[in-house]
Amino acid sequence: MCEMKNEVRNEIEKSGDGEVQEKVSRHFIEQIIDKDLAEGVYDTVHTRFPPEPNGYLHIGHAKSILLNYGLAKQYGGKFNMRFDDTNPTKEKVEFVESIKADIEWLGADWEDRLFFASDYFGQMYEGAVKLIKKGKAYVSDLTAEEIREYRGTLTEPGKDDPYAGRSVEENLKLFEEMKEGKYGDGEKVLRARIDMASPNINMRDPVIYRVAHMTHHNTGDQWCIYPMYDFAHPIEDAIEGITHSICTLEFEDHRPLYDWVVRELEYPNPPKQIEFAKLYLTNVVTGKRYIKKLVEEGIVDGWDDPRLVSIAALRRRGFTPESIKLFVDLCGISKSQSSVDYAMLEYCIREDLKAKKPRMMAVLDPIKLVIDNYPEGQTEMLEIPNNLENPELGSRQVPFGRELYIEREDFMEVPPKKYFRMFPGNEVRLMNAYFVTCTDFVKDAEGNITEVHCTYDPASRGGNSPDGRKVKGTIHWVPVSEAIKAEVRLYENIIDEEKGVYNEDGSLNLNPNSLTVLKECYLEPAFAGAKAYDSFQFVRQGFFCVDARDSKAEAMVFNRIVSLKSSYNLPK
Ligand code: ATP
Ligand code: MG
Repeated sequence: MCEMKNEVRNEIEKSGDGEVQEKVSRHFIEQIIDKDLAEGVYDTVHTRFPPEPNGYLHIGHAKSILLNYGLAKQYGGKFNMRFDDTNPTKEKVEFVESIKADIEWLGADWEDRLFFASDYFGQMYEGAVKLIKKGKAYVSDLTAEEIREYRGTLTEPGKDDPYAGRSVEENLKLFEEMKEGKYGDGEKVLRARIDMASPNINMRDPVIYRVAHMTHHNTGDQWCIYPMYDFAHPIEDAIEGITHSICTLEFEDHRPLYDWVVRELEYPNPPKQIEFAKLYLTNVVTGKRYIKKLVEEGIVDGWDDPRLVSIAALRRRGFTPESIKLFVDLCGISKSQSSVDYAMLEYCIREDLKAKKPRMMAVLDPIKLVIDNYPEGQTEMLEIPNNLENPELGSRQVPFGRELYIEREDFMEVPPKKYFRMFPGNEVRLMNAYFVTCTDFVKDAEGNITEVHCTYDPASRGGNSPDGRKVKGTIHWVPVSEAIKAEVRLYENIIDEEKGVYNEDGSLNLNPNSLTVLKECYLEPAFAGAKAYDSFQFVRQGFFCVDARDSKAEAMVFNRIVSLKSSYNLPK
C-alpha cells in the first residue's frame, strides 16, 4: 500500500551521475508548516478536527480527519478532537457518539484530548466583555433583517449601525442583561466593531453573540446567549494551543475575521488558519441534506445504509480504514476544487483486500449440478489454497461430493459464440476439483433449467489435466450437503448526481437497481463462524463483507463491497 502512495506522490529523479534519487513532493500545507517550524513561528504542530455534531461524518470528513491527524503524527505533534457545538438547534448526542466511533475506526487518536466548544462558553463570554471594554464590540438592537440591509453589498459599502455609538458602560450593562435573559431571541445582538466599509463583507461589524433561549446538549439551560461560529472558532483553537487550524475553502474569506479575533483578544502565539479544497465524489451524493432526506423517507435503512458514503456506511459495506487512507492519499491536498471518481475508492479497497483476504467459493444464483458417475453418499476433502498471491493465508479443506451448486449463468442449453462454460457435450474444470463433461439437463414445466448433469474424470483430481487435454472454462462450486445458506446484497449508486438529484415533480431521482437482494445463495462450509465486518473474496464475484446489522446466527447477510473487475486506471 505504501508503495502505491509513493508511486503516485513521489517523483523519481535522475541526477547528473545517473544515480536515482527520490524526491518526495510535499503538499502546500506541509510546506507552510515546514516554513513555520524553520522560522520559529511555532516550535510544534498541534492540529484538531472540529465537526459540528449535526449529522454523520462522510468520506469528505475522513479526508480532513486523516489530514489533521496525519500532520500531527508526521511532525511529532498533537491532534485534538473537538465538537463545535455552538448551535444548539441542530445538534444531537446521537451524532456525538457516531462521530467518535467513526474517528476511532479511522485510527485517528486524540488520546486524552476530547473537547467541546461548549466547554469554553465562559471564556468566550469573557472574550466578548474584553472586546466591549476595548471599544471593539457593541450591543445593537437592529433586527436580523435590518443588519442585512445595513451591511451593503459586494459593490456598496455598509452603513453604520445606529447603536454603534453606545458607551462602553452601556454595552457592558446590556450584554450582561442579554446573558441574564432579559431579552427575547433576536431582540439584541453583540457586534464586533471592525469596518462597515471593508471590501470583505465578513468584516462589516459581524454579529458575534446572539440571544437564543434554547437548551444545549452539554450546558443545558445555563446560557441563553450563544457565540457565532466565526467568533467561537478562533477562540477554541487559541485556548487549545492549536498551531495550524485547517479548514475548507469556503472559510477563506473569513480568515481576516479569524485573525482579528485572536489579535484583539491578545492570545500569545495565535493559531494560523489554512484552507484546502473539499473532497467531492463525482456523481455521488455526499450532502447531509440529501442523505437526511433519504434516511427520513425510509429510502435507505439508516445513515449507515451501505449505498451511502457516510463513514458508518462505508464501514458497514466493508471498506477498511486502510483503503480510505489510501484513497485520501491518492486524492492529494490542494486549493483547487475538483471531484474524484468513485471508481478510485473501489480501486483502493480492491488493492487493500486482494492479498489480505481468503478467496472462497460462493454461489449467488444456484442451480444443482449432479455428477452421475460419482459414488452416491461419498464425500472427499480437497485442499484448496486460500490466496494464491499470499501463501501465508494457508489452505483449507473443502468437501466435494456428487451434488454441487453452480451459478445458473455457468450453464447454457444453447451456448453463444465464445461461451466456454457448461453446455451439453462440453468439458470444463470445476475449480480445484475435477474435469467434468456436461451430459444432460432437466427443465421444469415453465422451461426453467432445474438441474444439470455431468460425468467426472477421476484422473483429473485437483483440477489438473490427466493427459494434457485442455478445457477453456473453469467454474466454481459449493457442495450441496454442506452448503451454508446466506443472503447477499448487491449495490449500485443510489442517486446519480450527474443525471440530476431531483425529477421534474420534485421527487428524488433514484436508481431502481441500487439494491439487489439475493435470498438464496450458498457458501462453502469454511464460511461457518464468519463474524460481522469479516470480509472475503468470493471467487469471480468480488469482495463481500458480513453485514453487521442484519446478520443473525441462523442466516448470514453479505454486502458486496466491490466487484472484481474494473476498467479504472489510476490518474497519472
Ligand atoms: P457538510 O456540509 O458536508 O455537512 P460541514 O463542513 O458542514 O460538512 P463540519 O462538521 O462543519 O461539516 O466539518 C468538520 C470539518 O470537516 C471541517 O473542518 C470541514 O471543513 C471538513 N470537511 C467537511 N466536508 C469536507 C469535505 N468534503 N472534504 C474535506 N473536508 C471536509
Ligand atoms: Mg457544518
